[in-house]
Amino acid sequence: MADCKVKLSIRGGSGLSIQDYSYCPQLLKHKMDGVRFHLIPEYFVTGRIVHENIETIIAAHLEGKEAKVISDAELETIYTTGEYVRAGDAESALFEPDKKPITFIPKVLTAFKSMLESDVFGNIQASEAYYEGALVDPETFETNKQLEDEGVLFSGKVDLISDIDGHKVITDFKTCKSALKQNEADSSTQLTMYSYMYIIEHKEIANHVGLAYMTKHVRDDTQYDYLRSIRHFEHYVHLYRNLLSLGKDVSRSIDEDDYPKKGMLADCRDKFNKLCNYHPMCFQSQYTKDELKEFESHLKEKTDGEEL
Ligand code: SF4
Repeated sequence: MADCKVKLSIRGGSGLSIQDYSYCPQLLKHKMDGVRFHLIPEYFVTGRIVHENIETIIAAHLEGKEAKVISDAELETIYTTGEYVRAGDAESALFEPDKKPITFIPKVLTAFKSMLESDVFGNIQASEAYYEGALVDPETFETNKQLEDEGVLFSGKVDLISDIDGHKVITDFKTCKSALKQNEADSSTQLTMYSYMYIIEHKEIANHVGLAYMTKHVRDDTQYDYLRSIRHFEHYVHLYRNLLSLGKDVSRSIDEDDYPKKGMLADCRDKFNKLCNYHPMCFQSQYTKDELKEFESHLKEKTDGEEL
């Protein structure tokens, strides 16, 4: 196989992801160019804390011990000593470094513990299992030669693998603003991809999937549920075709240093209505000299491979 030119992860975030290019090719370009920020959007930190604590809770559960859930006071310390910015409000995330502890995290983790203790996940085999590889055609089970030669790889980390009632089940954990519906588990590309990656890696059927969600509200109680679904051959074929076309587009963009302007551009025009931290790079004319200077001060030196 040729050297890896690009490794696209299934999740969004600070690494290069398939979502980046689908959402906005310019976003992938900025990340390819190695643009990183000193300031970290709050939702990255929140996601990381939730995932790390969920891992701790699962490990304790498997050892038959009581897991400690992070407290409001500990969160207060994290959120008041780190370089975090709020995101999701009307203001540009980058220029509103208002630090705020996220009080819903202990509620979310307590909800997760309840799910775990109710045994809905069955017999747990592994958590945070990482997969990486070239694209494999589900009809022939052969690696796609073109993408392989071009060095386009895909990767993903499965939150949980377990045996439930004789089925291997691939589960993803989600925190969200409101309760998820069954169709979200049925149509989740992420779950299809994880399921397919598991099948390729282990040569074993794992077409049962699950979405465990917990809602995050500062005031309301957390709602949670575990939605199960099944993947069929057609799902994998559909996924394969989409990834093939996306992988070819990304590869061409990198080779020609030409990233189409599409995706969220229309929503980006108003800088006060944008979550994307890269906004000042795409729309410099909307910023004053001082704001651009402030933006520059939040950029990290290019450090190859480093992720926030
Ligand atoms: S500001 Fe908009 S166009 Fe620029 S990278 Fe972000 S999403 Fe893409």
